Amino acid sequence: MSKRYRADYHVHSKHSPDCKVPIDEVCQAAILKGFQEIAITDHFEFYTPGHPVGFFTPKYIGKIFADIEEAQKKYEGSLIIRKGIEFGQPTVNPELARSILEQFQFDYVIGSVHKVGNLSLSNVAYNAHNIEDICLNYFDMLYELADEGEFDCLGHIDMIRLYAAKQGTPLNILEYEEQLIPILRRVIERGKGIEINTTGFRQELSTTLPDISVLKLYRELGGQILTIGSDAHSIADVGSGWSESAILAKLAGFDYVTLYQNRRPMLITIES
Ligand SMILES: [Zn+2]
Ligand SMILES: [Zn+2]
Repeated sequence: MSKRYRADYHVHSKHSPDCKVPIDEVCQAAILKGFQEIAITDHFEFYTPGHPVGFFTPKYIGKIFADIEEAQKKYEGSLIIRKGIEFGQPTVNPELARSILEQFQFDYVIGSVHKVGNLSLSNVAYNAHNIEDICLNYFDMLYELADEGEFDCLGHIDMIRLYAAKQGTPLNILEYEEQLIPILRRVIERGKGIEINTTGFRQELSTTLPDISVLKLYRELGGQILTIGSDAHSIADVGSGWSESAILAKLAGFDYVTLYQNRRPMLITIES
């Protein structure tokens, strides 16, 4: 595989409720920025049975697939476009998660925790007094996902650090090593992986999610499967921070990043 091979494995499109960029423009941006491969990973949020599902229906995925298939034809030979999805809290409705995966052949599934209970992490008020309880709840949900959820790689495993930092509540994630280690072990046991999410670079943290300390911990525990994703919700952010993250992965002891086809991982060498 070429040393210049770059693959952004977390990109949103206008199908996500919080993004306005058509898939065609995402693809053009990726090509212009020198990427050979992207995974379109629009949101699919899960709610407890009985709760309104909003956008998140099989029909919604059908529309995303139609757009991806059109782009695959248009950019054949210039860009590999994978059919991804970002599942949010799939463990709150595992039957629906399984049914979606039976109906649609994804290449790659990110598993994320965006909510504690029914409350979005971005809407929680963080302070020095409640941060520990919130983190423990968050890591409980993340463990449940790692243990039994449907996904290929966990998304932004310390996203809570970013939301807390936005409100001036700094968080040292290694204080939660006792919670993180079983999560990482379970990911490894199940043959799954984690991502380096570059969002933190562009926001209050100036580090990736997770940062190098957690990447090293994951590597020491035997972790090998690692993707790199910008989590772009705009054209400007497509591919952002990818090369810096590849260097971080190397520094943390990873020789490979992972690509997926039909949910099967393929490791490619990181060339520096
Ligand atoms: Zn996310
Ligand atoms: Zn995302």
